[in-house]
Amino acid sequence: MIATGNRLIVFTMVVATLAAFTARLAFAEDYAMSGIPLDDPRWQNTLDRVNGMIAAKAKAAEEAGEEKTVEIMQHIEGTSYLARARTPQRTAGSVARALGNPIVPPGEWETIRIDLPEESKPLADGEKFLKMIEEIGKTFQYTNTLGAKATVKVCRLAGTGDEYAPLSMEGFVSRLKAGETWAVTVTQVTKACNFCRGAKIVNGATCRQCKGVGGEAIQRAITIRW
Ligand SMILES: [Zn+2]
Repeated sequence: MIATGNRLIVFTMVVATLAAFTARLAFAEDYAMSGIPLDDPRWQNTLDRVNGMIAAKAKAAEEAGEEKTVEIMQHIEGTSYLARARTPQRTAGSVARALGNPIVPPGEWETIRIDLPEESKPLADGEKFLKMIEEIGKTFQYTNTLGAKATVKVCRLAGTGDEYAPLSMEGFVSRLKAGETWAVTVTQVTKACNFCRGAKIVNGATCRQCKGVGGEAIQRAITIRW
């Protein structure tokens, strides 16, 4: 009887230790996916978090971009064009208006190479569009109409790079297996809101006490890896 009792105690202690370890793992720096069966909902939850982070980055990139008038000069290859770009003419801010400068003139034209998304329709020389664009940190060299070599910056539409495309489950799994990692921020509610009791919504509206967070929360940075 005593021996059985001891085994029971030992077993209980192991379970308690495992439970504590698992609870810590959920918010550890590293979150390993390799041991999770592919049909486990944690895969979709994790992919949703990664895609949410990618969408937030795309939005930030678009906000950091600058709106330019882009005029196509010449087709280079695929959906890449030699173009000229400048900041558009715009209405001055309130201070400038008060000083009598209601119009801000357009910026200087700058020749660039613009790489449009692959699915873009072909554009003819002289076509114009107004979009947020960003430099990608590369240059392009070409021979201009005078026969001289010219070097221009390569730009793309802001927030449309490969790194901003949402991942499919298949792509997510194979890139994890290849050793890629993703850093995501997880909001962990440590104490439920005493007004909405963690529901985040009261009478169909965002809880004004916790502003939709659900309570007192801390942000955890987690690296998702295979
Ligand atoms: Zn609340």
